[in-house]
Amino acid sequence: MIRDGRVAVVTGGGRGIGRAVAVRLANEGANVAISYRSNDTTAEEVAEEVREAGVLCEIFKGDVADPADVAALFEGVGEALGQVEILVNNAGLTRDNLMLRMKEEEFDEVLRTNLKGTYLCTRAALRPMIRARWGRIVNVSSVVGLVGNAGQANYAASKAGIIGFTKSVGREVAQRGITANVVAPGYVETELTRSLSDKVKDQIKGQVPAGRFADAEEVAEVVEFLAGEDAGYVTGQTIAVDGGMTMQ
Ligand code: NDP
Repeated sequence: MIRDGRVAVVTGGGRGIGRAVAVRLANEGANVAISYRSNDTTAEEVAEEVREAGVLCEIFKGDVADPADVAALFEGVGEALGQVEILVNNAGLTRDNLMLRMKEEEFDEVLRTNLKGTYLCTRAALRPMIRARWGRIVNVSSVVGLVGNAGQANYAASKAGIIGFTKSVGREVAQRGITANVVAPGYVETELTRSLSDKVKDQIKGQVPAGRFADAEEVAEVVEFLAGEDAGYVTGQTIAVDGGMTMQ
């Protein structure tokens, strides 16, 4: 449950999981700001869908790993919607390659977007949250950050980094009414996974106890819980939404 009028920022909300999260938070009554990097059309479509829920929505174009863009995002949110209360660090990308072939640029771009982007947005959101003595930070990692994946050393490092980052932030702000948690999806039907061949998809499904990919909405549901009023005593946790892939 989310209190009506809460202000949420969803990075990478222009497509995929971020889109589902933005719509879900809006349906619960939150006003939502969406950040995206380049695809104006899909971001505008999401904004329309969010506004249909009867809440406010603004879209902000920019790179989560660029400090100036992040400053502009949070200033813009403050002016248009009010101070951020819920931050979902979802923007992310992959640049897969086997280690011996992995270029420095591929390593840097993934770490920069996925991990530094999470750091910059969290830093920008924390001050208003501390002032309000209330805040919810939900960071989107991946099961790859938990168990690794051949061809994704850069991505796994960024997603494992998010988990350690979130626990540290969670400890720092736990007494200020702010929680910080991680959602670690398995394979989800989005643009990110659409490029996989049917053969690879079938192989992956064979390793998932649920036998299928997730819908983005199934990830959004868990994000909504962690972002909500009732999750105030849950912090520093990583919840895998992976059809059982990493159960122990
Ligand atoms: P998509 O590729 O479908 O969407 C990514 C979104 O992030 C887009 O809105 C994109 O903007 C935005 N984005 C990318 N880079 C930046 C940047 N530098 N600055 C701002 N916005 C950016 O991804 P998914 O929805 O599949 O993934 C969302 C998150 O979930 C990612 O962190 C991903 O690692 C994680 N995840 C996904 C899984 C999957 O199976 N799909 C599994 C596990 C984790 P634009 O539209 O303008 O390009």
